[in-house]
Amino acid sequence: MARVVQKFGGTSVGDIERIRRVAERAARAHRAGDEVAVVVSAMGGETDRLLGLARQLTDAPHHREIDTLLASGEQVSIALVSLALQELGVPARSFLGGSAGVRTDGRHGVARIDAIDPEAVRAALGDGEVAVVAGFQGLGPDGAITTLGRGGSDLSAVAMAAALQADACEIYTDVDGIYTTDPRITDQARRIPRIGFEEMLELASLGAKVLQTRSVELAMKYGVRLHVRSTFLDDEGSWVVPDEEIDMEGAVVTGVAYDRKTAKLSITGVPRGPGQLARLLAPLGEHGVNVDVIIQSDAPAESVDVNFTVSDTELGRAIELLRALPAPFDQCTIQSDPRVAKVSVVGAGMRSQAGVALKVFELLGQAGIPIHLVSTSEIKISCVIDDRFTELAVRLLHDGFELGDPPAV
Ligand code: ASP
Ligand code: MG
Repeated sequence: MARVVQKFGGTSVGDIERIRRVAERAARAHRAGDEVAVVVSAMGGETDRLLGLARQLTDAPHHREIDTLLASGEQVSIALVSLALQELGVPARSFLGGSAGVRTDGRHGVARIDAIDPEAVRAALGDGEVAVVAGFQGLGPDGAITTLGRGGSDLSAVAMAAALQADACEIYTDVDGIYTTDPRITDQARRIPRIGFEEMLELASLGAKVLQTRSVELAMKYGVRLHVRSTFLDDEGSWVVPDEEIDMEGAVVTGVAYDRKTAKLSITGVPRGPGQLARLLAPLGEHGVNVDVIIQSDAPAESVDVNFTVSDTELGRAIELLRALPAPFDQCTIQSDPRVAKVSVVGAGMRSQAGVALKVFELLGQAGIPIHLVSTSEIKISCVIDDRFTELAVRLLHDGFELGDPPAV
């Protein structure tokens, strides 16, 4: 007997027929003798629909009320999935985030989970019931409903799996696993049967959409094994497991990710000297604008040029904050370009293999793709390029690193 958390995303519970199939999945594991906690998202599109309603009333909605509104989407799903299970003869009990013991901080819309007290859920499992838990939500310090940020039910599922000490957290979605790159861009993309937390974390944060980044971080911290699978197919899926379990002598590059929601800022005339870069970027940090790939010119001059990227949804805010900087920064010129994208190759094998960056530059260079900015870590190389080259670059890198070929046996 195993204890599993099964998480179903918005498309998986998109209509009543699909909800029946979700219930069948959970019922199958329950009949096989497993203890099953199901974590669900709102029905596909529902969270956006609810946000749209609020926007019709106000441009500056209060985050507390938005959380109360958005959390209703998941409330509908837990009730429907529980009813579907009961129809199949499986005892089931629905839990809102708060009643499942999910306690968060009070930062509405972007709350962090402080603790989970899984006693009520554990009791339901002990009584032979399937516990059906609302993802994406928790209870803040003042007893108000909070939400964890978009895509947050992955995080809820992993946190619940950690709290319940589950044997695995199964993430059911509309693709049948984790791929070497987005299969919509190249039919050469291949399913990765097993991947380590570290590589998965890089891929997710660099744009792979299959898992929310924070959920992978949490899985890594608590050693929660993730099994990403299709809701509708009986496939093997992909496992995300502790890094020690992965053969480190394997491929140098594991996957290619891309993020089109990237914008570039170029600031010229930044005073040279210690502390100036911090002064330039401080307001962005204070206002929660995430700054990525940063490059500073190093020519012998009074002033330097600073280039960096932000998410394109935060570009307007970033420009506003930079324009408001006091002297001498008010003399800087600010240029922005939202039409850039970041493509990245990721692989733990890079640590022990030289020449990966060179190969990336060659592959892009031969195709005439100019590289604006580069950033590297031990296990990834990211290039900021013109958005219009994204698909070409992904295909070139995927082919160039032979990711489409079947793994050597
Ligand atoms: N319903 C939420 C969203 O659309 C949470 C989730 O789907 O994970 O972001
Ligand atoms: Mg999702």
